Amino acid sequence: MARHLPIVEMRSSIRGDGTRVTVHPADLTGRFHNLRRVLFAVLMLVYVAVPWVNIGGHPAVLLDLVARRFYLFGAVFNAQDVWMLFFLLSGIGFGLVALTTIAGRVWCGYACPQTVYLEGVFRPIQRLIEGPREKRMRREANGWSFDRIWRRVLLWAVYLVIAAGIAHVFLGYFTPIRALGELIKAGPSASPQAFAWTTAMTAVMFFNFAWFREQTCVAICPYGRLQSVLTDPDTLVIGYDEKRGEPRGKSKKGPAPEGTGDCVDCNRCVVVCPTGIDIRNGLQLDCIGCARCIDACDEVMDKLERPRGLVRYDSLMGLSHEPRRFLRPRLGLYAVLGLMGILASSLAYSRHKPFEANLLRITGAPYALDNGTVRNAYNIHVVNKQNRRVVFHIEPVTQQGASYVIPLPVVTLDSLAGTNSPVFVTVPEAQFHGDFTVRLRVRAEGLADTEIRTVEAPFLGPSR
Ligand code: SF4
Ligand code: SF4
Repeated sequence: MARHLPIVEMRSSIRGDGTRVTVHPADLTGRFHNLRRVLFAVLMLVYVAVPWVNIGGHPAVLLDLVARRFYLFGAVFNAQDVWMLFFLLSGIGFGLVALTTIAGRVWCGYACPQTVYLEGVFRPIQRLIEGPREKRMRREANGWSFDRIWRRVLLWAVYLVIAAGIAHVFLGYFTPIRALGELIKAGPSASPQAFAWTTAMTAVMFFNFAWFREQTCVAICPYGRLQSVLTDPDTLVIGYDEKRGEPRGKSKKGPAPEGTGDCVDCNRCVVVCPTGIDIRNGLQLDCIGCARCIDACDEVMDKLERPRGLVRYDSLMGLSHEPRRFLRPRLGLYAVLGLMGILASSLAYSRHKPFEANLLRITGAPYALDNGTVRNAYNIHVVNKQNRRVVFHIEPVTQQGASYVIPLPVVTLDSLAGTNSPVFVTVPEAQFHGDFTVRLRVRAEGLADTEIRTVEAPFLGPSR
């Protein structure tokens, strides 16, 4: 079999004239359906719970963009640390690429927030208010009857409340969630930016989950578009075993009659599909790997007392009854790149210092001559990068002949706060030979001696 991937580009949810086909997936039970429901519940719980969890007196995850402070599971970062994110995101990105090469769109089918909320929250509510697929389609065919209108108004009202709830939880990742109650009570004028973001996000989510739905996956999401270059015939995909299924036969219990395959053309795999695909047409870009068609076909095969797996997880090689390779060059490359990114960010994080200290010369005249001495002025810049308030001691490193004036030898800094304290150093002119370096030691209370930092800067004076 050729080693290129024959992904079919067809739009099952868009007609040839560009109009939308509303997809009404049928109800379903099955092992993948159950697994996904459990996963959706866990992921939603995590999403809602994380902003409420505190570590060391700060939220476990808080991206305070306004103050440029980022709290991640007990560690605290400022804007200068954002470079670490590059490696971390690259590692995660290549990890996802490697996962796609191995197992196709498992992310889309099981963990993407779009799928989790649509299938885990919004569709079940629609099922509750508007009934099963057949009823919804019948009402739709009859136009805007009173029955259809009141159900739709109720559905959208509930959707709006949920979209607003999700938007507020999302805001909790950027503003301490415990302060949100106060913000809401204070009204939009107290925090117009937060209000605008939450309103915009509620509107986008309402539009997405109430109407746009699968079109986000099939027409907007770039990850879905990349599928054809990330996967190959050895990638695990959800596919139809054409050799076993064709030619399609009649629905009759027991083995398929002579001259026919196992597919009985019941269309069950099509009506359960959330993107309206007929998986029997081959691997398609619109397939989000949700495995609903597997459950549907297994259910049909069980009833017909035939083996499961006519639609199954397999590679295109496997579906063609040819041997599948697991290890291949592209997988190795993606895995190495992913590991490099994760390793680089882990290394950078392990070297992440609990505070920053720099000694900078004050701009202006490089030195002053005063009564037989040379004087230089500096600023010592200290930033507390711990997630607690810390007391810092600034001390001169004893050097013969030099005298130090440090107006603020002890400074107390809140988490991620910084200070610029002046330091004046004087050296007798007779002892200055042009090669003097000023050294200061910065010590943080509560940290080991190994964390004592020595900062230095050249001392300038008249040339001899
Ligand atoms: S074809 Fe199957 S796996 Fe793909 S989106 Fe449709 S139901 Fe899900
Ligand atoms: S559910 Fe199975 S038997 Fe029915 S049409 Fe789909 S592939 Fe054929």
